[in-house]
Amino acid sequence: MDAEVELRQLAATINVCTDCRLHLSRKLAVPGEGPLNAAVMFIGEGPGFHENEQGRPFVGAAGRFLEELLAGIGLTREQVFICNVVKCRPPGNRDPAPDEIEACSKYLDAQIRLVNPRVIVTLGRFSMARYFPGARISALHGKARQIGGRTVVAMYHPAAALHQPSLRPQVEADFAALGPLIDAARVAEEPAPYSADPTQLKLF
Ligand code: SF4
Repeated sequence: MDAEVELRQLAATINVCTDCRLHLSRKLAVPGEGPLNAAVMFIGEGPGFHENEQGRPFVGAAGRFLEELLAGIGLTREQVFICNVVKCRPPGNRDPAPDEIEACSKYLDAQIRLVNPRVIVTLGRFSMARYFPGARISALHGKARQIGGRTVVAMYHPAAALHQPSLRPQVEADFAALGPLIDAARVAEEPAPYSADPTQLKLF
């Protein structure tokens, strides 16, 4: 099947998914958005209040900050793929539960397979844990790793910098360093098929 069609069908499936309890409290599922040929995929945690209302990722204050950070490295949100670990809003903005993340992981796996990004940027603890189980974001943020031929960088969630202004300079510095990483990844070989196998992890 054409990958563009498959990505659209995946979003349609997510919009009516009932595979975990988060479907009970959502208003709109938030499948994620971006071009099929995006070189970079940003993976956040889960939809917040505004995302749940609009069915789009990163549309609140954290989204505006993300757009600012992208502009700083010459990118617009239309050029990157933006999604979350869970596609429906955890009630009251609580953390997503392990079984909810597990239930939703098939959709994120499919998005990574279809978009096949050269660079994956995890935003926050939950997407970081997919690639770096047990790691602490305070130690890992901004550092690039190669996983299956793909560059994976863990970053603080933009919302963290909004809630804790002392983090903001660090988040801005991590993003500034992302630009050259993306440039290097664009000219690297096509990534291998997606694998989250931590044994493939090695220092970049
Ligand atoms: Fe389905 Fe994911 Fe929404 Fe749970 S969070 S209902 S698994 S789309």
